[in-house]
Amino acid sequence: MLSDGLNQTIYGKSVFKPILFVVSAPSGAGKTSLCKEIAKRTDRIHYSVSYTTRSPRPGEVDGIDYYFVSRQHFLEMKESNLFIESAEVYGNLYGTSRKTIQDSFHAGKDVLVDIDIQGAELIRKDNFGSVSIYILPPSRQILEERLTKRGQDSSETLKKRLDKVRQEVHAFNLYDYLIFNVDFGQAIDDLHAIILSEHHRRNRMENFVKTDFLPRFEQENPLLT
Ligand code: GDP
Ligand code: ADP
Ligand code: 5GP
Repeated sequence: MLSDGLNQTIYGKSVFKPILFVVSAPSGAGKTSLCKEIAKRTDRIHYSVSYTTRSPRPGEVDGIDYYFVSRQHFLEMKESNLFIESAEVYGNLYGTSRKTIQDSFHAGKDVLVDIDIQGAELIRKDNFGSVSIYILPPSRQILEERLTKRGQDSSETLKKRLDKVRQEVHAFNLYDYLIFNVDFGQAIDDLHAIILSEHHRRNRMENFVKTDFLPRFEQENPLLT
């Protein structure tokens, strides 16, 4: 488990309001592994499970890795405005559920969405105060090795993904934070540090200090007078 920094309460009230964290990376850089691992280590962070029209990879489970749906079902959901964003990536449709995000926020949890560059752009435009993080691999060779070792994509899919890498790395420019995923444990620590620092920004804590902390602080009877 991570330390309890995100669960801090002052005068019995939770200090931190939920934040939406958007994580992107070239395929194989490790964003899914990082998001899942950090969500496992604290109950204050929810990893959003996306909807997709892609077929499940060996070992992938519906409702855990993705909600796997038909193209028609996906388009109906999109039509009904059930996604906060959706995009076509490597030939398949992917979308983030609006309800998942709202439910997590109401439960006081941060949300991590692992989405592509187009989806990140759409969320940024939405002005939800989201924070974006881009994951980079240590080298092109290591990225290829990781993708090949993952061993879950057909050679055609693998080629499609590798062809896009050169273009995708330049997207780093659009994100608030960057992480090189060299050592996995270090990358988890980096991600945790970013999440914690964002919560401590004055503009995010200001409302709590003014409306919850200061009035109580000022009314409190000192023990020594
Ligand atoms: P609220 O608690 O009164 O704001 O109730 P809502 O159900 O409208 O939203 C709950 C939380 O989800 C709020 O903090 C919103 O910022 C967030 N939220 C709602 N809709 C969206 C959305 O489409 N995209 C994102 N990124 N966040 C949303
Ligand atoms: P993405 O979601 O970005 O496509 P994944 O999380 O599926 O990437 O990671 C791709 C592969 O690389 C997986 O097999 C994963 O276990 C492995 N991997 C991720 N991070 C590291 C790391 N720091 N060192 C070695 N292997 C890693
Ligand atoms: P994969 O098929 O490897 O799981 O994901 C392919 C790409 O689609 C990745 O870049 C991943 O971040 C992105 N992706 C996954 N879910 C979503 C989503 O809900 N919306 C968008 N826009 N992209 C997604």
